[in-house]
Amino acid sequence: MAVMKFGGTSVGTASAMRQAIAIIAGKRKTGVPLVVLSACSGITNKLIQIADAAGAGRLDEALQKADEVRKFHLALTGELVVSKALQQELAGKIDAYVTRLELLAKGIEIVGELTERSKDTFCSFGELLSTTVFAAAMAEQGVCCEWLDVRQVMITDDRFGFARPVEHLCQAKTDAIIRPRLQSGVIVVTQGYIGSTEAGKTTTLGRGGSDLSAALIGAWLHEDSIEIWTDVDGVMTCDPRLVPEARSIRVMTFSEAAELAYLGAKVLHPDTIAPAVKKNIPVYVLNSLHPESRGTLITDDPELLSGMSYGGLVKSIAVKKGQAIVNIRSNRMFGRHGFMSELFDVFERFAISVEMISTSEVSVSLTVEDALLSEPFIQEARTLGEVEIEHKVATVSIVGDNLRMSRGVAGRIFGSLRQVNLRMISQGASEINVGVVVEEKDVLAAVSALHHEFFPEDQCSGIFEKPAGS
Ligand code: ADP
Ligand code: ASP
Ligand code: MG
Repeated sequence: MAVMKFGGTSVGTASAMRQAIAIIAGKRKTGVPLVVLSACSGITNKLIQIADAAGAGRLDEALQKADEVRKFHLALTGELVVSKALQQELAGKIDAYVTRLELLAKGIEIVGELTERSKDTFCSFGELLSTTVFAAAMAEQGVCCEWLDVRQVMITDDRFGFARPVEHLCQAKTDAIIRPRLQSGVIVVTQGYIGSTEAGKTTTLGRGGSDLSAALIGAWLHEDSIEIWTDVDGVMTCDPRLVPEARSIRVMTFSEAAELAYLGAKVLHPDTIAPAVKKNIPVYVLNSLHPESRGTLITDDPELLSGMSYGGLVKSIAVKKGQAIVNIRSNRMFGRHGFMSELFDVFERFAISVEMISTSEVSVSLTVEDALLSEPFIQEARTLGEVEIEHKVATVSIVGDNLRMSRGVAGRIFGSLRQVNLRMISQGASEINVGVVVEEKDVLAAVSALHHEFFPEDQCSGIFEKPAGS
């Protein structure tokens, strides 16, 4: 059967929840799915604001925002659930969660310190609340289901804010807790994004982590498919918020999807693909606003991929904003070994991950997340050479499996970008992406030019289709 994950906007309002329940009810006709949900859209951001306000001593603000979280879920319940008794029962559960949230905010304000560990506990309330309301509404509508606290199953390490599962424990818990319920015909509704250490401390997998939760549990259950239900018509040729004429991609390979996600396409959490690859489970990215449209199939299965040949080069364009370029120039690099190792050691010590890199004999340029740069890091890097930082840049990457064997792509990329000031250029080692770095203010011009070059208006056939509703 399938794991069905619904993202924030797909459960963000009463009508969105109703739609998601109808999609699940449709699926129930052919089997018993596992349902993984995000927090309602905007709630995780609000929980982080509450945590930050409490940590900074602004308790009034934290409590006011916590009350907004309470009111939001109460209003949602009022609109979604018919039975007054059930509304009251849910109101009690919502209040219990939000009271704990308020207690946590008060505790943090008293201690005066917000740790990653307590931040994860703040963030966990979003998914706990959305699944509680959703499961109750679904049962009321006659779709038999059971709510499950995923922290019984998703046992992780203690890297708070970026936790990863202890696979053998999770596999055993999945077999013991989830599988029997599904086998007895009960749909399980549970939380994405959150987990727990073996010692029972709440963790999160990082922002956007519900996709990863769904893929992991799907792999542990060895399900037939992993369905990511979101607010756009599958993976598209570019973020439709940037390029309104972006097309839906009907089918793509695991490597293309993973590359795109790592390069910034928010539609999938970057680590979603690995568990699916491991068990060779197809991933579908589907539109909960238009469930009838086909969305995107991500697979390496030659049979499913047959008919994929589309003669095109580029599948999609990804953008990652909030980057900085670190330029380091040093004559010590010339003809000497060991310089790179010293340089990477500095990045390692400051836990800064390098995204793109380009070198010459005497200089090296790297892109990193702007927010991770600090004065101590820059001072340390200066011991190796002259350092120059360019803030507010973005990487724009074009991705496609066919890039590796195609001639003339570079000419087309740079030809179309002739009006844009390119700060850096790089071809990924996997040879299925080519990336350029531009100033953030030039992103729109760059992606529009590339999209126009590789996906001309009049070419809308084969695996690229106009999204539903356009
Ligand atoms: P969810 O809450 O369902 O997880 P997200 O907001 O995390 O949804 O991801 C969906 C969003 O990803 C879309 O609304 C779209 O703006 C953005 N996006 C970025 N790149 C792409 C792409 N290549 N294809 C589709 N959507 C993309
Ligand atoms: N609610 C979490 C977030 O907003 C996880 C997710 O939606 O995937 O990041
Ligand atoms: Mg997401």
